[in-house]
Amino acid sequence: MSSDSRLRLPYLSDRDLRGSWPWLAGGLAAVAATGAFAYLARAIVKKRRVDRVLKEFHDTLIVPTPKLKELCGEMLNEVQAGLRGDKSSLLMLPSMVDILPDGNEKGDVYAVDIGGTNFRVLHLRLSDERGQVAHTDLRDFTIPEEMYSCHINELFDLLAVRTVEFIRDVRRDSPSLEKPLVGFCFSFPVEQTGLASGNLIKLTKKFENAGAVGADPVLQLAEALERKGMPAHVSVLLNDAVGTFAGGRYMDEDIMLGIILGTGTNACYLEKRSNIRKGRLPDLSHSEGMLINTEWAGFVSSNLPLLEEDRTLDWHSVNVGEAVYEKMVSGLYMGEVARHILITLIERGRLLGGKVPDAMREPWSLETRFMAGMHTDNTLLLSEVSAAMYCLYGVGPWEMTYFERRQVQEVCRLVCLRSARLIAMGIAALLKQMGRDGSEGPAPRTAIVMDGGVATHYPAHKDMDPESRLL
Ligand code: ADP
Ligand code: MG
Repeated sequence: MSSDSRLRLPYLSDRDLRGSWPWLAGGLAAVAATGAFAYLARAIVKKRRVDRVLKEFHDTLIVPTPKLKELCGEMLNEVQAGLRGDKSSLLMLPSMVDILPDGNEKGDVYAVDIGGTNFRVLHLRLSDERGQVAHTDLRDFTIPEEMYSCHINELFDLLAVRTVEFIRDVRRDSPSLEKPLVGFCFSFPVEQTGLASGNLIKLTKKFENAGAVGADPVLQLAEALERKGMPAHVSVLLNDAVGTFAGGRYMDEDIMLGIILGTGTNACYLEKRSNIRKGRLPDLSHSEGMLINTEWAGFVSSNLPLLEEDRTLDWHSVNVGEAVYEKMVSGLYMGEVARHILITLIERGRLLGGKVPDAMREPWSLETRFMAGMHTDNTLLLSEVSAAMYCLYGVGPWEMTYFERRQVQEVCRLVCLRSARLIAMGIAALLKQMGRDGSEGPAPRTAIVMDGGVATHYPAHKDMDPESRLL
């Protein structure tokens, strides 16, 4: 028996193997190339299938500019009907604010601001120098989930506790026994009966608190502050859009439009006295006009680019059938629309192998800030898209081709683009109403102030689509 007991291939010697190396390498490369080719071919076929569904979404979501102009005309008609007091999807509420800041205001003021996701308390020390704020303190709170459905008094008690703590902290440095002067920024539709009084028409966004509708939010805040040991002078009730407008005017006298794009959306503009034919108004003979709180969130038209996915979202919202425009444009909803579209792409286009991850079925799981992160991911391999899909839905980076990442990103881009185009349409309608659209010769300088989480934290939103011209 040979002493060499190593297993040997019977038909190839080492020398043979060495000699055949180029053939083997070539063979392996061919197999790898065939595999890669097959993978690529499969990925391209899959990509085309998803792209076809995406194209349908694109065609519905992104209304052509002429149709957008038509929508703009419809919004303008609703604006005018609302001002006349006729039936309109825009409430067009007179804000009772007819004297605007001119920068000469001074002293200490506080503001309590409740929106859809956060509430804030703010202290401003207005300087003796025109238009200057000497000092600002701000405290931000997220509204706890249970506060969306508790009795309204409980919500106001929480607001009051935080406000009192804040005012006491501010006054620690400069003690004062005077009743604090508080402005109340309350971002819900209110029929104002005076500058500091009104009745809540309805709750919106996620709120469904008993005892709120019909009550006066100023009284409720003042009573809650008193209950918590700090009687205050609540001197003005503003909607967030009106507050944004007035704050903007303190800095820039050409502000003509205030827009909110946060959890929800709203707009406010300065209207001439003669055009407002509803409600009991104060004497406006000495002012430029009055700020109108449009409540444009409720705008509705059959020309709005409504998807089946929007209907599903609406069905699961607390205000079914309402705030149609808001649900297409604002922060509470954009991520949720994108989630529904992704589910359709998976089910109909077989994105991600056609299997919807369980976590993706969870309503409201794709917050707009995550959608914004995926939309604005400019890494080479879209690794932020991949990281978000992994963290939110457990889809591993190895489970998504590059094309699929791009398609997920495209969904986010389309939802953002629809929102931006619709907001631009609304702005154009209000500029027309004010005669500042340039149709009657060069328009005077017109400044717009925008606030809200989407406006401030999603800069790509306002940079979308600069080419389309609506005016
Ligand atoms: P509120 O509407 O309560 O006054 P904000 O104006 O701060 O609150 O807006 C909060 C909303 O902004 C959230 O609902 C969220 O959808 C949106 N938002 C917050 N951060 C981002 C972000 N980075 N990108 C996009 N949207 C965001
Ligand atoms: Mg707000």
